[in-house]
Amino acid sequence: KSQELNISNTLRFDESLDREVKSIFWIKNDLISAISKDELILNYQPIYDVIRKRLIGAEALVRWKHKEKGIIPPLEFIPVAEETGLIHSIGKWVLFNACKQNKRWQDLGYEPIYISVNVSALQMEEPGFIQFVKQTLKESRLEPKYLQLEITETVSSKDYRVIEKTVKELTSLGISFAIDDFGTGYSSLEELHNLNINNIKMDKMFIDNLEHKGKEEIAKTIISLAEGLSVNLIAEGVETKEQLEFLVKNKCTIAQGYLFSRPVETYKIEELLKKTRNNHKDL
Ligand code: C2E
Ligand code: MG
Ligand code: MG
Ligand code: MG
Repeated sequence: KSQELNISNTLRFDESLDREVKSIFWIKNDLISAISKDELILNYQPIYDVIRKRLIGAEALVRWKHKEKGIIPPLEFIPVAEETGLIHSIGKWVLFNACKQNKRWQDLGYEPIYISVNVSALQMEEPGFIQFVKQTLKESRLEPKYLQLEITETVSSKDYRVIEKTVKELTSLGISFAIDDFGTGYSSLEELHNLNINNIKMDKMFIDNLEHKGKEEIAKTIISLAEGLSVNLIAEGVETKEQLEFLVKNKCTIAQGYLFSRPVETYKIEELLKKTRNNHKDL
């Protein structure tokens, strides 16, 4: 009896757990209808070639515009979507709309850029994924070379074969792949090498606090790793001029981050594209 009391007391007073359980509960409930209610939106974060000072790409980042709760960031609902299987329909919505948007910019006459879309490993394992990507390109009329898919490094050995096949087949169509958050996951370099992925996105943590002992060496090691493997390296989360100077000095020349721009709405990217067209020094 006293034990029961203890447990319920512990639970009652663990407010953070309580809050978490409640929030997962409403997220699950409301997320089911988020697509049909038109509540998902895409923001785009510019990706620059910092040497040529050109906008070369944009990463599509999903947000949920909840009727009562306001804008909900992806880290709060993507994990729930993965857990409930809703990631498949959300992922399809994101991919299709990102491709359509990129084609629309091209149709407006702007210099083509690539669109980079985050894809959960669960999506890549789904049997219909390859077919869906093909269908998306066909319907959006976007050329495959303007699509990049970002996958996180955490690929367990169980899924590895499926992922390998998917990457191979989609690469042969002309789509490119990037390893997202590189250096934070568990995948071995050997697996990475076997997947033949041509782009690595260096996680923000590697360029944070570069003044701390050893941090520059780690970042430099990742840069030379990319160079040695002949893959493109994109620096994520560049916030300061000092970080940018460090990157340029060490020959990492593709970057995105708040220093250039936060993820923005469609029309803002269009303004940047306009600038690129009128004036090639757009940084
Ligand atoms: P990610 O793919 O690594 O995206 C980069 C995240 O870093 C974005 O957060 C972006 O807003 C943020 N960021 C960019 N530059 C800076 C900077 O200079 N400083 C700081 N502090 N942050 C910066 P966001 O939009 O909240 O997305 C978080 C994560 O959610 C993404 O990380 C990605 O893993 C996931 N995600 C977003 N959209 C999708 C999607 O459509 N599908 C899937 N499966 N995952 C998504
Ligand atoms: Mg990403
Ligand atoms: Mg990332
Ligand atoms: Mg990340």
